[in-house]
Amino acid sequence: TRILGIEGTAWAASAAVYDCATDEVVIESDAYEPESGGIHPREAAEHMHEAIPRVVETALEHARQTHDGPPTEPPVDAVAFSQGPGLGPCLRIVGTAARALSQALEVPLVGVNHMVAHLEIGRHTADFDSPVCLNASGANAHLLAYRNGRYRVLGETMDTGVGNAIDKFTRHVGWSHPGGPKVEAAAKDGKYVDLPYVVKGMDFSFSGIMSAAKQAHDDGVPVEDICFSLQENIFGMLTEVAERALSLTGSDELVLGGGVGQNARLREMLETMCDQRGADFHAPEPRFLGDNAGMIAVLGAKMYDAGDTLALPESRVNPNYRPDQVAVTWRGESKR
Ligand code: ATP
Repeated sequence: TRILGIEGTAWAASAAVYDCATDEVVIESDAYEPESGGIHPREAAEHMHEAIPRVVETALEHARQTHDGPPTEPPVDAVAFSQGPGLGPCLRIVGTAARALSQALEVPLVGVNHMVAHLEIGRHTADFDSPVCLNASGANAHLLAYRNGRYRVLGETMDTGVGNAIDKFTRHVGWSHPGGPKVEAAAKDGKYVDLPYVVKGMDFSFSGIMSAAKQAHDDGVPVEDICFSLQENIFGMLTEVAERALSLTGSDELVLGGGVGQNARLREMLETMCDQRGADFHAPEPRFLGDNAGMIAVLGAKMYDAGDTLALPESRVNPNYRPDQVAVTWRGESKR
């Protein structure tokens, strides 16, 4: 099976070809970089509109060149696309492109939940059976685990996503988007100052710590100390809830997903926690962590093989598509 994946929930216009026989994933991405401030939905959509044809054509050209069937055969078996969650104006462009391609190539359409794709790429690259997943991305932060045909949300942010929270602080400081890597770099020279830490049961909140961090900056606290403390508290909160999720489910596998997963301090905390309880920890390679079409193509292939394809009237995008709305069709005889 060979699948064309298209991702376009926010900033990354991305297309990929996944070949099941070789397990090779070729990704072509074009990132929207705001000139100032954060991600502006209209500008992001304009970028998506302009970049999607280019990345899709590059990915398809690769598929054509490596295709060994007759030239009359389509170079891929299906077109998978990010159906949500994400910014509506971006999703609609990708949905339209995917529908047009599926009709032009005469292959089925597969609608992929972007957050489940963040999880499944970790499960796939680690070869784990039934992991707990911490999705730490820009617009989201939650713990997922599989039970009875669905990925259940065990805990989640009560307000903003984790990356967006960090980016709001860096905008306040005057740093360009994205802020996460800049906080990581500055934190290396910092020491701890007190900031809020909010975990309630399995859920957590970032709004209080963000306001306190901005206030601390206005009060003249050194920015590297704030960055260090932000990382310690925010990643501490995520690690605490990840541990509770492992304990609750009895799973001994943890995977990390999302762009914030590129942060070495977060990975170190999760790894230490897993070591201490004898669990295995896996973070996919960086190209699979931030938004990318590789993860859409890989999950798209599993769904296609399970017969989970979309008729055109069902292919509408959903900006608020939650992971627990997805009926999991592709897991076969999983242990849990
Ligand atoms: P979603 O996947 O929820 O739709 P998104 O598209 O905004 O959200 P991703 O591509 O998964 O998100 O991640 C982008 C976020 O990752 C940004 O908020 C960015 O600041 C953050 N990020 C990137 N690198 C790092 C890092 N090294 N440390 C912390 N955060 C980081």
